[in-house]
Amino acid sequence: MCKDNNNCHCGLDPQSPEKDTNVDLQSDVEQGIAGQARNDGLFDKNMDKIDELAFHYSEILKLLGEDPTREGLQKTPKRVAKSMLFLTQGYQQNPDEILSSAIFMEDYKQMVIVKDIDFYSMCEHHLLPFFGKVHVAYIPNHAITGLSKIPRIVEVFARRLQVQERMTTQIKDCIQQTLNPLGVMVVIEAQHLCMQMRGVEKQNSITTTSDFTGAFEAAKTREEFIALIKR
Ligand SMILES: [Zn+2]
Repeated sequence: MCKDNNNCHCGLDPQSPEKDTNVDLQSDVEQGIAGQARNDGLFDKNMDKIDELAFHYSEILKLLGEDPTREGLQKTPKRVAKSMLFLTQGYQQNPDEILSSAIFMEDYKQMVIVKDIDFYSMCEHHLLPFFGKVHVAYIPNHAITGLSKIPRIVEVFARRLQVQERMTTQIKDCIQQTLNPLGVMVVIEAQHLCMQMRGVEKQNSITTTSDFTGAFEAAKTREEFIALIKR
């Protein structure tokens, strides 16, 4: 957990997101405990990597003109090492397996929508955060998945170095390949700190990306989804 700053967007202390999904997710408490347990496992598995990363972060601090031995910075390299490992843990997870682990046969043929899934990712060009909301819709073709699995796979792709466009396509492909639905559509709305803190410094711009397959090639179906996520 990020103890330094409650408003920090490092993603280590996700504030309970205001979920307005059509989904019954686990309670935040349960998720918090499960998350903590997953972190401990993650750090235990990667002790050597943490030490090596910390060494390099200490070198980076020196290159930036800092003194890594001064009081406020003494634990920073190790903290950043753990933080980066947490923020990129998606490399160690398999989203196809997560989705496949909960497939149920069901004859429901209407749109299933999971909207307003909060995510925090990092742009691969500047290693700065981009974050926002993911909206997913699919039309089942006999197979449905446990609804909490959609936010789980969003999390796996977000916890890697990303560009928003590729993340959109990867989520779409993962659902298409695993569930083989009649169609899937993914919309991502995000703010990029690499635009807001540096570069063009556009403070309030939101980048929207979308990608879809099958039934969503019909404009009417896309419009229905867009209308439902705007509500
Ligand atoms: Zn960037």
